[in-house]
Amino acid sequence: MAFKIHVNSPNVKYNDEFLEANYEYHTTKVTKMDDKQLKYMATPISTKLIIRTELTIPKLGVMLVGWGGNNGTTFTAALLANKMNLSWNTKDGSKKANWYGSITQSSTVRLGSGGSEDVHVPMSWMLPMVDPKNIEIDGWDISNMNLADAMERAKVIDYNLQSQLKPEMARMKPRRSIYYPDFIAANQEERANNIISGSKTEQLSWIRRDISEFKTAKNLDKIIIVWTANTERFTDIIQGVNDTADNLLKSIKENHPEVSPSTMFAVAAALEGCTYINGSPQNAFVPGAIELAERYETFIAGDDFKSGQTKLKSVLVDFLVSAGIKPVSIVSYNHLGNNDGFNLSAPQQFRSKEISKSNVVDDIVKSNSILYEPEEKPDHCVVIKYVPYVGDSKRALDEYTSEILLGGHNTIVVHNTCEDSLLATPIILDLVILAELFSRITFKQNESENGIFTGFHNVLSILSYLCKAPLVPQGAPVVNALFKQRAAIENVLRACLSLPPENSMLLEHKVYFPKNI
Ligand code: NAD
Repeated sequence: MAFKIHVNSPNVKYNDEFLEANYEYHTTKVTKMDDKQLKYMATPISTKLIIRTELTIPKLGVMLVGWGGNNGTTFTAALLANKMNLSWNTKDGSKKANWYGSITQSSTVRLGSGGSEDVHVPMSWMLPMVDPKNIEIDGWDISNMNLADAMERAKVIDYNLQSQLKPEMARMKPRRSIYYPDFIAANQEERANNIISGSKTEQLSWIRRDISEFKTAKNLDKIIIVWTANTERFTDIIQGVNDTADNLLKSIKENHPEVSPSTMFAVAAALEGCTYINGSPQNAFVPGAIELAERYETFIAGDDFKSGQTKLKSVLVDFLVSAGIKPVSIVSYNHLGNNDGFNLSAPQQFRSKEISKSNVVDDIVKSNSILYEPEEKPDHCVVIKYVPYVGDSKRALDEYTSEILLGGHNTIVVHNTCEDSLLATPIILDLVILAELFSRITFKQNESENGIFTGFHNVLSILSYLCKAPLVPQGAPVVNALFKQRAAIENVLRACLSLPPENSMLLEHKVYFPKNI
């Protein structure tokens, strides 16, 4: 394997199979010394780790649930346009395929300093990652429209690019899927002409067969399944039905109505050994589905792609609160005219989205006890309206009102217009590429020579950067602040190369040291 970055350190060993890094992980343990006076003791902790990255890049297949939707067709079009290196004419001149919006393909990380200048490298150089050009694609949809027609229906891709992609995409037809009308808006019924009939047990076997068929047909090593189908209503968590893995499997056998399609796919993914990512807000990962993934040692991540308004919110509120400014009212209004918007015009489906959009500032607010009382939160209102004419070009209007010095107010108003699926598609790619990479990384505490290597927790919270309502292992903190989320990814990549985390101190430029450091 040819590496773009060679680490000059005895702490890094390479062989044909692995890259192994000795790494000292530093944290700070805090204990309360005195409740009344709020005194804390901070103890630096250092843990010696060996971090191993498997170097063989697998042949990867991606299966999208909701393949014929706006995200599904746009993801497929972007994948093909980049594979085929396409360019096309628009009224603004010629455009070339790219992956703008993807951190793995279009962002850089600071590797270090080459003297007075920082050296930045593409994130994809840090460790061997799947090249999007080698990804195979397949998927399911309750609508039987071929991908070329579905792309036309989505009205996202430029006409001249569509013309070039049509022959290839016309050959792609979504597999039949599971449709329970109770879970998505009634207005989607017309689309549902590509459905797997039979009992829940039969439907589960059908999807599992699809997965293994795709794996064999394309000679794949790994498959990652992404739910990018319509937002469902929340599933009720019912004792004896979906609270444990065994109860969930039993409920499928008994055809229980409170098992949603997105949970059925979660079960199929676990049983087939596939990573499963939920790009929508609903609780596909009921406790039983999480336990099942743990049992089968498969990775899961979600919920809800963090693409536009929420991404900005997780930057802006972090900036305000960390600047000592107190946001007191956040009002987020959207209108959009795509099928996602149509589905979200139904109250139960809107409620799922409202929940995932609303919790995004919680950890940030909680971090500043100078500004906020323990239970205090800013007023936070989320509105979504369906306006067919604007199609996929979503409008998001946000008003952030904050209290500033001595009772003053500061109001920031943001208007964001953007094609939703062009923001979501690179996020789908990053989720897939990073989930695959993180599944090849294992850790050992090197105190014990014969200790075992263990991987990331099967709830891949390291992907929080890409999710609106990050799923985290039980008891773990939820981090929503975007730059903390990004720093976590970047610093884990550095740790795998035994490089220190980026601390941004730049002391070598800020302090007079008698000898250069
Ligand atoms: P879309 O309505 O265009 O596509 C969804 C597709 O899913 C449709 O083709 C529909 O027929 C299909 N579908 C519905 N139920 C299905 C099932 N049970 N099995 C298989 N297919 C099914 O929507 P979209 O714009 O592509 O968005 C997809 C999802 O991603 C939505 O839940 C949306 O909320 C979420 N999301 C989108 C963005 C974004 O920026 N585009 C951001 C965050 C989350």
